[in-house]
Amino acid sequence: MTAQLKRYQMWIDGQWVDAAGGKVFPTVSPYTCEPWAEIPDGQAEDVDRAVRAARMAFQSPAWRRLAPIERGKLLRRLGDLIDQHADELALIETRDNGKLIREMSGQLHAIPNWYYYYAGLADKILGEVIPTEKPNFLNYSVREPIGVVGAIVPWNSPLLLATWKLAPALAAGNTVVIKPSEYTSASLLEVARLIEQAGFPPGVVNVVTGFGETAGDALVRHPVIGKLAFTGGCETGKIVARNAAANLTRVTCELGGKSPNIVFDDADLDAAVNGAIAGIFGASGQTCIAGSRLLLHESIHDQFVDRLVSRAKTIKLGDPSQMETEMGPVATPEQLEKIQRYVEIGIQEGARLVCGGGRPKAPPPLARGWFFEPTIFVDVRNEMRLAQEEIFGPVLAVLRFQGEEEAVRLANDSRYGLAAGVWTLDVRRAHRVARDLEAGIIWINSYRAASFAAPWGGYKQSGYGRENGMEAIKEYTQVKNIWVELSGATADPFKIR
Ligand code: NAD
Repeated sequence: MTAQLKRYQMWIDGQWVDAAGGKVFPTVSPYTCEPWAEIPDGQAEDVDRAVRAARMAFQSPAWRRLAPIERGKLLRRLGDLIDQHADELALIETRDNGKLIREMSGQLHAIPNWYYYYAGLADKILGEVIPTEKPNFLNYSVREPIGVVGAIVPWNSPLLLATWKLAPALAAGNTVVIKPSEYTSASLLEVARLIEQAGFPPGVVNVVTGFGETAGDALVRHPVIGKLAFTGGCETGKIVARNAAANLTRVTCELGGKSPNIVFDDADLDAAVNGAIAGIFGASGQTCIAGSRLLLHESIHDQFVDRLVSRAKTIKLGDPSQMETEMGPVATPEQLEKIQRYVEIGIQEGARLVCGGGRPKAPPPLARGWFFEPTIFVDVRNEMRLAQEEIFGPVLAVLRFQGEEEAVRLANDSRYGLAAGVWTLDVRRAHRVARDLEAGIIWINSYRAASFAAPWGGYKQSGYGRENGMEAIKEYTQVKNIWVELSGATADPFKIR
């Protein structure tokens, strides 16, 4: 069996290499539950090699002195190459994490736009001239790259989330060492081939594969890393931030959520039902922005739940590589267990299960793959664990509210603050509620929209820092301020100028 598995190598300093220790681990398809490839098990030694290569590349004239417009051209070329290979990359992602081909295909064809957007920004990272109170000085600031960026990404949208880091980091002139999730390393290693083809100098991008506690930890603690861009779970984010603090390495954290999706009695209910389904059953609920708390106005609660349950029961589970499938398996057996555990917790807490709640009772492959039914709980109170903890699966907690103030209070009564949905046709209410919600991303009469141009990130324990848009460029640059004496006069050496 092992002989048939595809064998990947890591991409370090412009070379395809095995892990220094020679070890590999299997990557498994959540649909077939079979391993399909072997991934190098990178350790601290491999990370160190990659970071040193990235540091050398950062200092080399081939990258340091490359005109920003030329960096932009490299990014554009990479975008073109990804576009040409989008379909095969989407299939790899689907095989590796079980997400639908219809979603991954959309993502892969959208990813080039991130490279094009940041290619355009590479030569527009402007400084400023500052009018100080000292007429004999010219004062100006420039934005410079930070150096070596360490990037760590999860398994749920592997290439999209890697792109959100790679494109702005490179546009700003940094070099990067990136570690994909141990569950989904293959697609990024395929993209490394395209990075090579695009013509980036060796060492500018390095991909080290391996586990969080080994390769990930070594990257976080490496003293040469100037900035860590982390996406993952809240608890891992806290560990990463703590360990990075030992070297005062700056960190951005894109973490989890328990996002409220609020439906008022004046909403377009067809659109809102569709939005609630998208919020929790899209990607089998495995998205950081999952609308996992549905807040319904009491006057529409019962009819809304009826419609939601009817639609949820028709969701087509199946082979994620088929276009007609609506929900694939969850990505790992650990995820499946966790989801099952939370269903039990919900029942013990007194919430009422009105849809799903288990693995599908069907012949293989549904019974064999890591599938879980679309699951809906009603009569959920906000203090229940079901309403407070991120499940990262297709489990919806439905709460009811009486008025706008209560809706906002419930929505904000969470340690998380990543995203929120607001469904109402009253334009004043829409903006009032958006103003009062404690979340980094708000959708009004929609859910799960994202763009390369729009900043993305959390409030509270959903993290800090922003990805996408101009905001991301700030995260990958540091400010240098320069004073130029213009008069030639000699000043008192014992006084600050
Ligand atoms: P995770 O935290 O288990 O792992 C994320 C990454 O961190 C992986 O590459 C892993 O190998 C690495 N890692 C684990 N332990 C580490 C350590 N001690 N030091 C350094 N690296 C370590 O998360 P996951 O299960 O892969 O992903 C799901 C989580 O990601 C969810 O909580 C989800 O909400 C979150 N997420 C957030 C966003 C966002 O934009 N805010 C996007 C997608 C996913």
